[in-house]
Amino acid sequence: MQVQCCVCKRVRTETGWEAKVAESAVCSHSYCPQCAEEAFADIRAYHNREQPRSGRTLAAAMRRLSQGLG
Ligand SMILES: [Zn+2]
Repeated sequence: MQVQCCVCKRVRTETGWEAKVAESAVCSHSYCPQCAEEAFADIRAYHNREQPRSGRTLAAAMRRLSQGLG
């Protein structure tokens, strides 16, 4: 089973995260380290009462997070 980032769609391989479309029918969605950092940065920005630098809302960030963990 392949693990694919739900944000940038890269897939995890033995050597790292590669930007290619998963051919496998079975695929688990998660975050690659880069997108996870961006998602958590949005949440930290919210708690700091700052505008998320990406412009995304907290609700969107949390929805993406739940998708990644689910
Ligand atoms: Zn990603």
